[in-house]
Amino acid sequence: MSNNITKLLRATFLIVIFFNVTTNASQLTPQQITKVLKESYEKFKDDNRGKNADYIKALAEVNSSIFAISIVSASGDIYEIGNTKEVVSIQSISKVFTLALVMSEKGPKFIQEKIGVNATGLPFNSIIAIEQHNGSASNPFVNAGAIQTTSWVKADNSAQRWKKIKNNMEKFAGEKLDLNAPVYKSEVNDNKRNQAIATLLEANGRMGSDPLKATTIYTKQCALNVSSHNLAIMASVLANHGVNPVTKKSVIDSNLTPKIMSIMQTAGLYDNAGEWLYETGLPAKSGVGGGILAVVPGKFGIGVISPRLDEYGNSVRAQEAISYIVKKLNLNPLAQ
Ligand code: GLN
Repeated sequence: MSNNITKLLRATFLIVIFFNVTTNASQLTPQQITKVLKESYEKFKDDNRGKNADYIKALAEVNSSIFAISIVSASGDIYEIGNTKEVVSIQSISKVFTLALVMSEKGPKFIQEKIGVNATGLPFNSIIAIEQHNGSASNPFVNAGAIQTTSWVKADNSAQRWKKIKNNMEKFAGEKLDLNAPVYKSEVNDNKRNQAIATLLEANGRMGSDPLKATTIYTKQCALNVSSHNLAIMASVLANHGVNPVTKKSVIDSNLTPKIMSIMQTAGLYDNAGEWLYETGLPAKSGVGGGILAVVPGKFGIGVISPRLDEYGNSVRAQEAISYIVKKLNLNPLAQ
């Protein structure tokens, strides 16, 4: 009899533990999210390690104290803190959305075969990486692969190609995005290295249209302004299987979002992507403007802006803030 009671108590205890673990992991309350958001902001707001990118001259002049964190749930709830309406140029984060466009038009196999889906382990503007990989860019998130992706957007001319790229990014954001004219001018007159990369890829038969024109459009897509609010909504479309949870509009086929996110895991933070994945498990993408977006699949889009970068070109405070939030809210998808 007493043996049976012990067994019953043991089973009840196990059920209670199991129940607690599952509710903690999957049902976060708005209070929990708001608390951790505030904590991460307070913890890192005075961290001034790193420095603005300066190889694009206009980026050196951006206010480096901007710090903003936004989280958008897959059902469209928004949690934010800091200068969440301040904008910076999107830079490399734009690569995710032009990839989404070309993947929609040409299919995932085309991306895999023509551009590649492997890490380079080298800096984002590496030329050696192309030479070492049979003349291929390796993936769409290094400059080579991104310029290539831009060149493959179906269009009759540059003006049409640009319009499609901008419209597509605006569908992800759910609002209009403005061009940062000073950043665009500063980079378009100073992008010989990217032009060289595009020309090399053309010589290898990998470009879909004129390499120099594609480089100019790529430079323009990098100069669109975004806030942390914009970035979090854009990321939430990927978290929500291709539907913008704020506008409720379908932006991309749900079959494609895992493909895009897998490349974000492999190459989203360039040659530091392994460290990032090890820390957070999250697909993410950074830009030298100071933004990072990260996706918690099925749950949240996160957008952070803070212009000071580490030696890889990734925002220092954005990485810290997202890592903190992931740990505190148990959001690492590989730990679920
Ligand atoms: N426009 C920048 C470049 O081509 C983007 C680089 C980045 O954000 N890593 O160099």
